[in-house]
Amino acid sequence: MINYIFMSDTPKIEQKALQCPVCKSDKAMIVGENVKLGGKFEDKEFLTTELTVLRCTKCGYYMLFDKMAQFTTKEESKP
Ligand SMILES: [Zn+2]
Repeated sequence: MINYIFMSDTPKIEQKALQCPVCKSDKAMIVGENVKLGGKFEDKEFLTTELTVLRCTKCGYYMLFDKMAQFTTKEESKP
């Protein structure tokens, strides 16, 4: 299992463990990179910036991050 760590792009090097907002699992996999989403809001069409899409491996919840977010993989150490 691979553990993805979300790193914010703040001046302080801050590592934040990724956590699914639904099931609180910290296991997710990247299912798409440089993904642009289009949609409509109040009769105006829009297109998002390039996003990275992660999917929770436990409940299947999709999480979207802009490309400022960086992900590193960390092998989970098994006891
Ligand atoms: Zn989940």
